[in-house]
This record gives sequence, C-alpha cells and structure tokens, in this order.
Amino acid sequence: MNYDVVVGLEIHAELSTNTKAFCTCSADFGADPNTHICPVCTGQPGALPIINHGAVEYAIRAGLTFDCDINRYTKFERKNYFYPDLPKAYQISQLDLPICVNGKVELSTGTVVRINNIHLEEDAGKLFHDDFYGQSLADYNRCSVPLIEIVTEPDMHSAEEAVEFVSKIGLYLKYLNVCDAKMQEGSIRADVNISIKEKGSEKLGNRTEIKNLNSFRSIQRAIEYEVKRQSEILDNGGTVVQETRKFDDTMGTTSSMRSKENANDYRYFPEPDIMSIVFTEEDIEEARRNIPLLPHQRVDKYINEYGLTDEDARVLTLEKYLSDFYDETVAIYPQYKNVSNLFQTEIMRRVKDTEEEVVPISAEGFAKVCEMTDKNIVNRNDAKTIIRIMFEEGGEPEEIAKANNFIVVEDAGETEKFIEELLDSNPDLVKQYFDGKTNMFGFFMGQTNRALRGKATPTLVRECLEKALDKRKP
Ligand code: ADP
Ligand code: MG
Ligand code: ZN
Repeated sequence: MNYDVVVGLEIHAELSTNTKAFCTCSADFGADPNTHICPVCTGQPGALPIINHGAVEYAIRAGLTFDCDINRYTKFERKNYFYPDLPKAYQISQLDLPICVNGKVELSTGTVVRINNIHLEEDAGKLFHDDFYGQSLADYNRCSVPLIEIVTEPDMHSAEEAVEFVSKIGLYLKYLNVCDAKMQEGSIRADVNISIKEKGSEKLGNRTEIKNLNSFRSIQRAIEYEVKRQSEILDNGGTVVQETRKFDDTMGTTSSMRSKENANDYRYFPEPDIMSIVFTEEDIEEARRNIPLLPHQRVDKYINEYGLTDEDARVLTLEKYLSDFYDETVAIYPQYKNVSNLFQTEIMRRVKDTEEEVVPISAEGFAKVCEMTDKNIVNRNDAKTIIRIMFEEGGEPEEIAKANNFIVVEDAGETEKFIEELLDSNPDLVKQYFDGKTNMFGFFMGQTNRALRGKATPTLVRECLEKALDKRKP
C-alpha cells in the first residue's frame, strides 16, 4: 500500500563559543583527551556552574532567525540519566520555558516546517568502544560544551525534505557565526522521528526515533529504510512499535535500541544552581544586532547591488566561507562580475572537495590577480597559473608574475611600427575596410595581437590601429 511519510527532527548544534556552557574550560574540538576539563564539567561534588551568557545570546540569535518568539523568562532543568559519558549523571537542559518557541522555516518544496522550540543545554562526553583490551575509554572534553536543540513539529514528508531542513539550518547557523556546522566533527547531529500513515489520513502513526545521525547520507538512508520497514509491518496487518532505534551505517539498516523513554523517565527537576533569566528588550535587540546578512539577504545584495545574475549569486552563497572570501575581495577591488568569474572558475573548484572550509590564499592576493587580469598586465591563462602557484607554493601574485615572465611589457613604438607596416603592405584590405567591410578591423587586430604577444595588450593594439586607420581615411 501507499503511505504518507511523516518526519520530525531534533537537531543538536554545538555552539562555537570559546568556553563551555557552565564553566570556563575551552570548548574547542580536537584537543588531547581530558585536557579541557575541570571540577564543574566533570561533576565533582560541590562544584557550581556559572552560565555562559554568550551561549544564551547565540540561542536568541538562532531563535530570531528562525522566526521564533523569545520567552522573556527562561529557566533550566536537570535531565537525569546514568551513563558513563555523563559524569554528573544529569544534563542541564530546558523543558518548560525554553529560550525560543514557535518558529518556522520554509523549504524549497513550499513546506513550512514549524519549530516547536529551541532550547539550550550541555553536551555529554565521548566514549570510545574500540577494542582497548576489552575496556572502553571516556573523553570528557565535550562535557558541557553548549548545544542548542532545535525541535520541529512532525511537518516533513520525505527524506529529501528532512535533509534539506538540516542543511538549511546548518547553513544559517554558520552564517550566524554560532555553530561551525561540521557534520563530520559531530557539531550538528540529528535525531530523526519517522512514522507513516494512510494516505490523506489526519491521524499520525506510531513513530520510531533514530538517534544521533551525523551525515546527510545517513539521514536520507535511515528514513528510507524506516519507511520501507514500517510499510511492510502495516501491509502485513501489524503495528509499529514506538521505540528508539539506531542506524547501522555499513548495513544501511536500523535496529531496536530501547523502548521509547518519556520525559518522566528522566526525572526532570529545576536546576537549583542556575538562576532563571529574565530578558529585557535590550538583550533581544543586542542579539538582533549581532545577526549578520543571512544567505538569502546576501543573494539579494549580490543581485541588486553587485549586478550579478541569480545563478552567480546563488552559487557564491552556497558556502559561507566562500561568500565571505568573495566579499573581502570585492571590498578591495569592486569589479563584481569579473571577480565572480575568476572566483568561480579558479578558486571554487580548487577548494570544492576540501574539508577545512578555508581559501588558502589571501583576498588581497586574489584581488590583485583579478586587477592584473582586467588591466591586461597578465593574460588570463597566466592568471590561472599564478593562482595555481599561490595555492601550491604561496607567494605574492606580482612576484610570481615577474619570476615567470608573465607581465605584458607594453611597447607602444613597436606596436605602431608593426601596424603601419601591416597596413602599408595590405592596401586592398585597407580599401575594403573603408568600403564598409568593418570586420577587417578584427583581422588587423588579430594579426597584430599574434605578432606582438607579450608586448602589447589588446587595448593598446586597438588604440594604435584606430589611429593608423584614421590617418588613411579617404
Ligand atoms: P518526546 O519528547 O517524547 O521526544 P515530542 O513530542 O517532543 O516527543 O516529539 C519529539 C519529536 O518527534 C519532534 O520532532 C516531533 O516532531 C516528532 N514526532 C512526534 N510525533 C511524531 C509522529 N507521529 N511521526 C513523526 N514524528 C513525530
Ligand atoms: Mg525526544
Ligand atoms: Zn570545565
């Protein structure tokens, strides 16, 4: 039978604050295990948390961006569970009055995904179950790194919509400078809730929740697998068990992890060590001021202010670091269209498959190459070589151009001389030109450019040729 697919997401995004949510330990990723820890984030008795106001402001920024209402009064709860990745045995989170509620995000399909809430909480540590002589190892560096959890209503209807939602959220969080959204480092992870129902029916089916998916591909495959599995159950007259399942990346299958826990299983209670927060209008305005131009606004700016095409504007804003680099370049050398062309052909393809999300050359250097190309100081092919050398070996564009004899040295005298001779030895062609065969101009240009390669720019050739023809006007 054919069913409607229903998907709701809980997206965890690690905030890129310098320090953790409730202590001053570094929140950086990738340090040696257990070097970013202290009595607070490892839950030593008597240690007291202090809230990181930066993380709170980041959460408000995200809420405003996704059209949420900001609760003027917010507080924190303890969510208790016992697991070795959580030395305190509870996570500080929010249940009743999360910072942001009632948002929405629109997808390219036209579907509007409602956001139930965005709340602030802390991350847990990381366990390694590789075979260390039968032992597991714990790294607590990630304990208490601030997270926002974005909880949607069950408003998506396919794996593709779920993937688009996660990717849009990631892109916007990056533009907001609140999360680096590197899925491969786990800074964005999604719990995916999936159910199916009879086509057109109002009544939602029983859902399963797949925990901790950290790539678009696994989100896509997990949903596809679950839809197939649940469809087979219903086709055979069975009922889907509401439960938490895990996804096996190698097999592309999901399997039962545990029966679904409820909020009361976590024995939520008020966090007694952190004061509730009352936001003033000024707090919210401050967060609003910290919201930079968002992807759709950059697209508008590129089209309306820079005169780029829709397609160029879209391509340039697909990644924040690329859009930032383009902006830096045109701030130095505002030839929007020319910079965009050279950027798309020579820079974007070189960084396309890298993970670091940086352009390894400077915007100043790139602006210089664009300018030298526009002014015909170097020709376009040599400009490409200069960029390649800058990527591979570093260095300043002008030095590279000189060292490789790429600089076009103009010699006006020689150009004039060549053109005079060319015209003198082709009187019939000159006559044809004045008889109306204007494409002769292009022929003379071509001959001269070829002969004087590296000594005259097309601009100079054009000037000299116009002068020489003028003299011969009948
Ligand atoms: P819980 O607190 O038990 O996890 P919630 O009601 O907060 O349950 O929902 C968690 C997530 O599950 C939300 O993203 C929500 O959209 C999604 N969800 C709820 N019901 C369904 C359903 N029938 N099918 C798919 N997703 C659902
Ligand atoms: Mg849940
Ligand atoms: Zn700490």
